[in-house]
Amino acid sequence: MTLDLKSLVRTIPDYPKKGILFRDITTLIEHPEGFKESVERIASAHRGLNITHVAGIEARGFIFGAGVAIALGVGFVPIRKKGKLPGETIGQNYALEYGVDTIEIHADVLNADDNVLLVDDLIATGGTAIAAVSLLRRTGATISRAAFVIDLPDLGGASKLRDEGVEVDELIS
Ligand code: 5GP
Repeated sequence: MTLDLKSLVRTIPDYPKKGILFRDITTLIEHPEGFKESVERIASAHRGLNITHVAGIEARGFIFGAGVAIALGVGFVPIRKKGKLPGETIGQNYALEYGVDTIEIHADVLNADDNVLLVDDLIATGGTAIAAVSLLRRTGATISRAAFVIDLPDLGGASKLRDEGVEVDELIS
């Protein structure tokens, strides 16, 4: 496995607004070996660690997280935007650049016996991932590891997440 995954990520300037360089993973997942290797590398870094669930953050975290869950032979927990899950939920607010957003999980999905790996496509400021860890921890489950396809280290999110006691892996920096 020697693919240069970074070369499969496309950068789109001024999306979703002017001045932002958006890292587009659709070109990575369109590439059969690139997609497979991304999932397999995250999974192999987490074998033998007694992970019971993979939790993925809507929406791109579902793409990679579902693959990692299958590769590890564990269940998948969707972390969704507010109002999307049909059962009883618990929610966590987090600050955006302008305003507040909320993510939710089903209230009955995890318990203190569970050991969850958090997966998302990208960590930037870490606001989303830290909110996800806080939310998952409210179930009593252990969340000591998170994996991202891309880390933007200048924005400091991975280091903030490590300060929360989470080991962070990324495939591309
Ligand atoms: P953070 O909360 O760490 O600032 O932002 C990370 C979240 O926003 C992730 O859920 C990620 O999907 C999304 N995100 C922010 N910037 C980008 C980007 O440039 N590319 C992609 N693919 N996702 C991004």
